[in-house]
Amino acid sequence: MKYYMPARVYAEENCIANHAEEICSLGTHAYLITGRSSAEKNGSLDDVKAILENAGIPYEHFNEIEENPSVDTIMKAVYIGLDEHVDFVIGIGGGSPMDAAKAVAMMVCQKEKRASYLYEKGSDEALPLVLIPTTCGTGSEVTGVSVLTRHDLGTKLSMFHSVFADLALLDGKYLTSLPHSVLADTTMDALAHCMESYINADATVYSRMCADAGLKLWGKSKDVIQGKREAQPADYLNMLHASAMAGMAIAQTGTSLPHGLSYTVTYQTHMPHGKACGYFLPGYLREASAKDAAHVLKKAGFASLDKLEKYYQKTSRPEELPVKVLETGIQEILQSPGRLAKVPFAVDEAMLRRMARL
Ligand code: NAP
Ligand code: FE
Repeated sequence: MKYYMPARVYAEENCIANHAEEICSLGTHAYLITGRSSAEKNGSLDDVKAILENAGIPYEHFNEIEENPSVDTIMKAVYIGLDEHVDFVIGIGGGSPMDAAKAVAMMVCQKEKRASYLYEKGSDEALPLVLIPTTCGTGSEVTGVSVLTRHDLGTKLSMFHSVFADLALLDGKYLTSLPHSVLADTTMDALAHCMESYINADATVYSRMCADAGLKLWGKSKDVIQGKREAQPADYLNMLHASAMAGMAIAQTGTSLPHGLSYTVTYQTHMPHGKACGYFLPGYLREASAKDAAHVLKKAGFASLDKLEKYYQKTSRPEELPVKVLETGIQEILQSPGRLAKVPFAVDEAMLRRMARL
């Protein structure tokens, strides 16, 4: 049994300013990695710039990280980072910029290596890394995983290296600008993380402790996502906590079939990550042991599997997915021994077809 999560986590209002000294002690030339515009709009980028400027630390800013970041974009950021001699990385945003920041922090340390190194065994050495989530789903700030888009393979694939943040800074105020659909989809991702980690061949008593805590916290904000009550500041911090707990769970176990099936869907149809995972989640629970399924549903506050299905339909409003895309995803899973090994029950094609609603 092993539990490993080396990131130092702070979660509070004004988190960045409160920990300015610790952030600034990580290097002398910062590299800020963000998406196109959200970090600017929600205030997180200005907060980071302010503490760096106050400490006299120069910084570069790469703001071209797209949703589901590609290896090509990572390498573009790496070459700029190398040219500018940056020595620490601050990733701000959803899972896309945070995953990108991990890959960049590692590749800048591997000056002689090409993009293929992301998918080769070798040193995981990386520049010091700070991650600041502004969505509440991926938990990337507390996992070692970086999921990247591989245009050469036509899907998404985690890099073969583990890179954890040194510091993870959670401040609920950055979530207040989230469009409702992104809030619904990213919280669905956190729910999938908890459930896929709990019902997982690699689950341990520690990973289940994190999954259970994540599910309980998650259940507290369910009514906000369904529009039954207005979000309060405490809700946003709660959603960040739930997402981080879920991240701590998958940092130990990895994810399972819903995530595995989601990658082809997102690549081929651009369905957002959390929404794509949610599409397969009820089916996963239906195939799992009745005891485990009942446990995770109850922890998250669902009276039945049917209630989870209805919640997903209402909050994520999934469109029908093309049969060909689903079939491609199923074939990929069947050829992925690593993914199949995570499932604590027998998997065959017929079962995957049921999960995929075919
Ligand atoms: P995302 O792709 O990072 O962001 C989705 C959208 O939300 C973007 O348009 C982004 O805008 C916007 N956004 C972000 N924060 C916002 C805010 N506070 N206010 C308004 N808009 C905001 O979404 P995500 O679901 O968080 O991340 C998905 C990625 O994470 C996928 O690639 C997935 O595979 C990966 N993932 C990683 C792990 C892990 O363990 N590492 C786990 C699960 C998923 P901008 O582009 O302008 O920033
Ligand atoms: Fe996920």
